Formats: sequence, structure tokens, C-alpha cells
Amino acid sequence: MGSDKYIASLDVGTTTIRCFIFDTDLKIRGAATERVHLLNPQPGYFEIDPTDLWESIVVAITNAIREARLTAADITCLGISTQRCSFITWDKDTEEYFHNFITWKDLRADSLVKQWNSSIRLRLLNSAAYVLYLITRSKRFLAGALLKLMNGQITLRLLWQMKNNEKLKSAIERKTALCGTLDSWLLYKLRKVRGSKEAVEHISDITSCTATGLYDPFTLGWAGWALNMFSINPEILPRVVESNYNFGYVHESIFGARIRITCSMSDQSCSLWGSNCFADGDIKMTLGTGSFMNVYTNKYCHASVHGLYPLVAWQFRRNGVNDTVFCIEGSVNDTGSMINWAINFGLFDDPARSSSIAESVPDSDGVYFIPAFSGLGPPINDIQAGTGFIGLRSSTRQPHLVRALLESIAFRIAQLFYCTSSETNYKFSRIKVDGGVSKNDFLCQTLADITGVRVERSKFSESSALGAAFVAGLNANIWPSQTHLEKFYSIDKVFLPREEMKCKYMQLIGEWEQAVERFKKWYV
Ligand code: ADP
Repeated sequence: MGSDKYIASLDVGTTTIRCFIFDTDLKIRGAATERVHLLNPQPGYFEIDPTDLWESIVVAITNAIREARLTAADITCLGISTQRCSFITWDKDTEEYFHNFITWKDLRADSLVKQWNSSIRLRLLNSAAYVLYLITRSKRFLAGALLKLMNGQITLRLLWQMKNNEKLKSAIERKTALCGTLDSWLLYKLRKVRGSKEAVEHISDITSCTATGLYDPFTLGWAGWALNMFSINPEILPRVVESNYNFGYVHESIFGARIRITCSMSDQSCSLWGSNCFADGDIKMTLGTGSFMNVYTNKYCHASVHGLYPLVAWQFRRNGVNDTVFCIEGSVNDTGSMINWAINFGLFDDPARSSSIAESVPDSDGVYFIPAFSGLGPPINDIQAGTGFIGLRSSTRQPHLVRALLESIAFRIAQLFYCTSSETNYKFSRIKVDGGVSKNDFLCQTLADITGVRVERSKFSESSALGAAFVAGLNANIWPSQTHLEKFYSIDKVFLPREEMKCKYMQLIGEWEQAVERFKKWYV
């Protein structure tokens, strides 16, 4: 059918920036990819130069529009999906940046994280929250009682900058400092004319704010206790807006015509849309550089005992009333990063071949792998864990190592699934998977076997970009409703659980967990 309405969807990830031009049948008319140059100026520091990032974003959008043989004037609306928890600070008067983006991977605040987690103040906070939980039975206080600070959240990385960056310190005193997540910086850049004195609202969508560690999903606002405890002035933070906020327009000086921005959500919220997870208990797993499991919990904000996160999935404002829905999130930092390491190491040369190599042997010959370059997250929660193989014998060959590595990725992801199953009453009937690593048949089949749930691989692996396009199009009234979008979700392949393999894997997971014990607290 085609159309004369076009949606530009921009996905700013950690390794790539992708832009797609969709028509109203969700056919891709143009696409472009640019690399994100992740800087590693010293061990544990992971930064992105904002000038370089901005130029790459402009090039990606320009090239996608050009490939679609369109101009900016033909684009009906722009949807943006961004990585979360990377932040930058700048001066609102001079537009000077005080540092590069400090990304979610950055570990410079690690000693602060350890200090705070063992501090009397945090223990007192946990205890007070627990007492309040016992009195009120409110899940909000349970979350406070179990609170642990993490490098991935913005909180202590921002505190680190506030302590160590003189320019930022004096701008905070002058009241000219702004702190933005990647989405709020991008919204600022897209709408602002360089050098103009015209004020641009400093805003961020609720789905990005909810992941920062500074936002309380139970009270739906910046967490007063966190701002007080870390002496963060709320004036430097963006105003939190809903997911159908009137974001305004990309300034015409950038692409030659102004483009209406109708969505700016976090990557995992976009991915829930792209995977059509709209029913209570719908679950999707995005398997990329790292893995993200998100379970849509509708109106329920879940407090987890195993270290999973309750997040705002999205919030739409209708007739003056905010309609907010939530999700549970669990993440595994190392997934594709392990595949990339294996390629660089020479274990195999092409990720697409790893599946058949693993299938060429019936088991890993007793070898186990612990995938922990960034430590081990929930439910193990040990950022000092080491990485490695254990159990090699004289009979061990390359396919055994490949199988052990892929199985370990499936075991980690399955652990998140078990946590959610044990903490909630959901009866999961399917797991939707997307992302580069989901192309691996062996891994998807293993996931189905150990969870006992059918695994459905999405045809379009770029679910964040798809979701951003969905939300942008809905907010621009291109499509009438969320249900209208269901026809656009299509399955590439289904992996059914095999009962006989479940028993075998239960035993293997038990042995793998013993191996994990040996790799715990490896780095001090
Ligand atoms: P991100 O969005 O985090 O950049 P992607 O979703 O693009 O990540 O996935 C990229 C990762 O997927 C890379 O680490 C790549 O090695 C891995 N990958 C791609 N194809 C396969 C495959 N067939 N099997 C396993 N891993 C794969």
C-alpha cells in the first residue's frame, strides 16, 4: 500500500547509532548506521565525546533520509530511542561541556560505590526502610530496605564528577550547570540553535529518568532521599515529562526543514513496544552486547528481593491524567561482549557459525564458562567475579569450549527468568527474544529447554527502533491505537522446550553454579 507519511526512527546504542525511515506499513524505506566511538582513556573509564556523537547522529539521520530518496520536509515525525544511564553536564549559558559522556559502563566511581554500600548511612537507611515496611507493608519501603548502589546507575558517577570536576563545581555554585541523560542532551541539541540565547526546556522522558537510580518509581518523582543524601541540587536535573509530551521540533537549520519529535523513550521501553509486550506478564529479552529482560507488570510496581529493578515502562498523559505502567528489569552485562571476545581470541571467526559448532558435540565435556567481564549481576550480585573456563581435560576440544560459552550465556539469562518466576505469580507461556545474539539458534533452543517456555524470535531484531517508530507514529496520529500495531509484530522462528533436555540442564546448571562459587570475589 505504501504512504506519503514517513517516520524516522533513531536508536542511539552503545556501539552503534541506527536510523530507519519507515512508511505507514512499517516497510523500511531507508536505513543508515554509524559507529559510536567508545573512549577508554584509562582502565575502567568509558566515555563518549559529545561533539563526535552529535556529528554521527546527524550523519545517520541525513543518510537514512537520503537513502529513502526523501528530504527532511517529507518526514512526518521522529521517534528517538536511547541508551540509558549515560550522562553529561554542561553550562546552560555558554554550552560548554564539563566532561565527555560518562557512560553506563564506566567504573570510575567503583570505590565510591563500595564505600557507600558499606557505609553506616546506607545501612541506617536500609534499616529505617525495613521498619517502615514492617509497619506499612508498603513495597516502596521494601525496595528501600534492599537498596544497593551500583556503577550502572548515574548516582555515584555524578557524585564523582561533582567532587572531582572543578568547572562543574563552580557552575553548580553559579547555578548555570545542567546534568542530562543522553536523551535530554539530544532533545536539547536537536531543538536548540547553536549560539542562540533562546531558552530550550531541559527535559527527559520518564522512561530514561526511571533507570538513573535517582528516580523513585513508587512516588513517580526524583527521589528526595537520594538527592539529599548525595547533595545533588535538583535544579541541574531535567524536568521529567511523559511519553506523549509535546517535544516540539528539530530545528530547521539541522536538516533543512523542521521535523516534529513525537517520541523520546529509553531503549528497553521502546523494545517492549517493538516486541508487542502489552499484556500483564508479557516478557521480552533483548540479547545484544548485554542482555535485558523486561516483564510488563501493568499498574504494579514490583519490589524485588533478588536485585531486579522496578521501572516505569511508560506514561501517557490523556485528558490531563497520567496513565503509568511498569515493568521489572533484570540485566546481564556480558552477552555479545563474550561472543566478541571469543572471536578476538580466535575461538571462532564468525558468530553465525558458533551455533553449529556448539551443536556438533553432545555436551561441553564437563567444561564450564563464567561470563563476568563486568562482574555478575542479579541474582549473584558480585561485581568482583572473575571470568574463565573451568574443568578442561585432555579430551577438551574447541567445540566443547564454544558450547560451554554459549550455555553459560543462556544460564545467566535463565537466572533472571527464575528470579522473576519465583518473585511473581506470572505463568509465562512464551519469551520473546530480539537483538544480535538472538540470531543464535543453539542459544535460543537452550533457553527454551532450561526455562521450559517457548522462545519466539522476532523477525525484526531492531525492536528498540521499531518501538520508537510505533510510539512516534501513534503520538502523531498516524495509527489509531496500540492494538493496530499488533499486525506488525512477526515471528522469525519458534523454539519449543524439550522436556528430556530440561532434566539434563538442571544438573548442568547445578554444576555451573558450583563453578560460579569459585570465581566469586576474584578481583579485590
Ligand atoms: P547492541 O545493540 O548492544 O549493539 P546487537 O543487538 O547489535 O547489540 O548485537 C550485537 C552482538 O550480537 C555482537 O556482540 C555480535 O557478536 C552478536 N551476534 C551477532 N550474530 C550472532 C550470532 N549468530 N550468534 C551469537 N552472537 C551473535
